Amino acid sequence: MLDAVIIGAGPAGAGAAFDLAAGGRRVLLVDRKKFPREKACAGGITPRAFSLFRFDLTGFVLRKCRTLKIRPPRGRSFRLKSPAPLCYMTRRRDLDLLALNKAVEKGAIFRGVKKIQSIKRFPNHVEVLADGRRIRALYLIGADGANSLVRRICGFDFRIMKNPALEAEIPVDRPKDHEMEFDFSMPGKGYYWVFPRDDHLNIGIYSALPGKGVKLQLLSDYASIRFPEAKINSFKGYPIGTGGYCRRPGQGRVLLAGDAAGLAEPCFGEGIYFALKSGQAAARAILDCGPIKTPGTLYNQYMKIIRRDLMLYSLGKIFLYRFPSVFFKFLSFPLIQQRFARGYARGDSLMKILTHP
Ligand SMILES: Cc1cc2nc3c(=O)[nH]c(=O)nc-3n(C[C@H](O)[C@H](O)[C@H](O)COP(=O)(O)OP(=O)(O)OC[C@H]3O[C@@H](n4cnc5c(N)ncnc54)[C@H](O)[C@@H]3O)c2cc1C
Repeated sequence: MLDAVIIGAGPAGAGAAFDLAAGGRRVLLVDRKKFPREKACAGGITPRAFSLFRFDLTGFVLRKCRTLKIRPPRGRSFRLKSPAPLCYMTRRRDLDLLALNKAVEKGAIFRGVKKIQSIKRFPNHVEVLADGRRIRALYLIGADGANSLVRRICGFDFRIMKNPALEAEIPVDRPKDHEMEFDFSMPGKGYYWVFPRDDHLNIGIYSALPGKGVKLQLLSDYASIRFPEAKINSFKGYPIGTGGYCRRPGQGRVLLAGDAAGLAEPCFGEGIYFALKSGQAAARAILDCGPIKTPGTLYNQYMKIIRRDLMLYSLGKIFLYRFPSVFFKFLSFPLIQQRFARGYARGDSLMKILTHP
């Protein structure tokens, strides 16, 4: 019998597998994709996410951005600036392969699966039937993204919100001439981003309206307005799981982590930090549990602070997208800009940024 089986080898699953294997547990990580695999994601790693990785990412950083240009719906653009990086640009294909390899080096086993057929819970273990083979483990972590099968099969009594996001690449001659940008000036609830990388720009759109799709045409129209000479390619899209702040992601022997539990923040769609943080918290709950406290109970306790921060982001989302003029007026004060830039660069939680000078 395994100690844990983890479904999904994104940041949440690989992060949990690493810590469980490092803690001496027998852990199997399964994913329906062969790695390296493409994943719809801009690969922007905030400093707080960067510092959570248990291994060095330096060689995988394509660019460090110290400035974020913000284009508000009305009025002039402004910049958040910091001497320390505000964001590290990476490629998810490479980052996820690295994280998986590191978990395997620690002792986790990885297996590709075509289909999860069933998941059964027993008093003392869980059983996953995948491709006709039975996997028995003491605990299960569902880290299978926003469309989580584990969440649906295991009867978690909540739905999450799914915010669509699309990304694409634009090769440019001098990516260094471009800044990291969040652009709120286009119609619709959401924003466009421009992330400069090593030899191209990653551009994308995040919709703050869950459940509704985003048309590819919107992104290509945006590209032709902003970068009329350039050729846009490699469109990818996927929903981002949000809204899980008010839910308990642990139930007995089954724990949901990352987007599967709706743990991305809903203002801008940052999910890697919360996926990794929750995956690590799930692993810790399994390592710490005993006869009195189940991992589910412990996990829900460990997640309280993260969920509180996510609740603040949910309030921020209402503020940002319902009352954009008030939001950007607030952000137009240099002192507020400094506070956010400094807090983000330090990797602070939103609570800390708002409450500590
Ligand atoms: C276009 C776009 C841009 C984004 N940009 C950023 C960004 O710049 N910064 C940031 O922080 N966040 C960003 N995000 C959000 C971020 O990608 C997610 O929040 C993050 O990947 C969640 O990690 P996860 O481990 O929970 O799930 P995922 O990364 O989605 O991993 C889930 C894994 O589970 C596997 N899986 C799914 N179903 C099954 C199944 N049935 N059986 C087996 N395996 C399964 C999948 O193959 C996948 O490998 C972006 C998202 C999108 C869509």
